[in-house]
Amino acid sequence: MGVSLLATAVVNYTAAAITDRGRKRPSNEDAFGYSVEDGVFAVCDGMGGAAAGEIASSLAVDEVLRLFDGRSAGMATPMPQLAEGAITAANEAIHSRAQRNYRLSGMGTTLVVLVVEESHVWVLNVGDSRCYRLRDHKLEQLTLDHSLVEEQVRLGRMTPSEALRSPLRNVITRALGTQCHVTPDIFELQAEPGDLFLLCSDGLTRELTDASIEGLLDAGGSLDDLCVSLTKAANKAGGHDNITCLLVRAEGEG
Ligand code: CA
Repeated sequence: MGVSLLATAVVNYTAAAITDRGRKRPSNEDAFGYSVEDGVFAVCDGMGGAAAGEIASSLAVDEVLRLFDGRSAGMATPMPQLAEGAITAANEAIHSRAQRNYRLSGMGTTLVVLVVEESHVWVLNVGDSRCYRLRDHKLEQLTLDHSLVEEQVRLGRMTPSEALRSPLRNVITRALGTQCHVTPDIFELQAEPGDLFLLCSDGLTRELTDASIEGLLDAGGSLDDLCVSLTKAANKAGGHDNITCLLVRAEGEG
């Protein structure tokens, strides 16, 4: 299909998010943050003993938002260099904090970030939090999980149902803060008016199939209401882990 010159452009983005402790965990190690003005949206799922997971995830969100702060006001660094810089800075912030305090040793976090600029969208990913897009009633997972079982599935060494039952399903192969260096996946796509992006932690995707997430999102309603219905459904399905969902809608003119 050709690209119509009359295709409407995305003129703005709206967002809403919820993080919920779930029903089994004593604390919430997920974190989210966003700035519609700067066009940056982030979800992190922390790991580590005691309060370390919470510290890692909130450090990462704060650092990413700080580095994108004022981007729309004419910052010189173009994407994706800006994104790579933000990931490096967040990684260092967590890693150096863990080195200074033995109680925080080994802490880390996943990170999934959406950066938007008119119709351009960049997705940044480290770990097994995910970014999905709902377009024309179809949900598509945009990120690949950096997890041991998902990599085995991609290599054809494990079936998806074996992956779901594997005792190693929690093992992620990339995290922010656990090493001196981290390599994120960064890719660019074009948004269309009506696109709905979902950033979420595995507390949502372990409880709900992609088909049920698609059904809930496609039911429509305000972004706040959609966040509530996703969280409620994940809790109803067990709520074994912290649940975070961040929704971003691309809107056209009129
Ligand atoms: Ca989790």
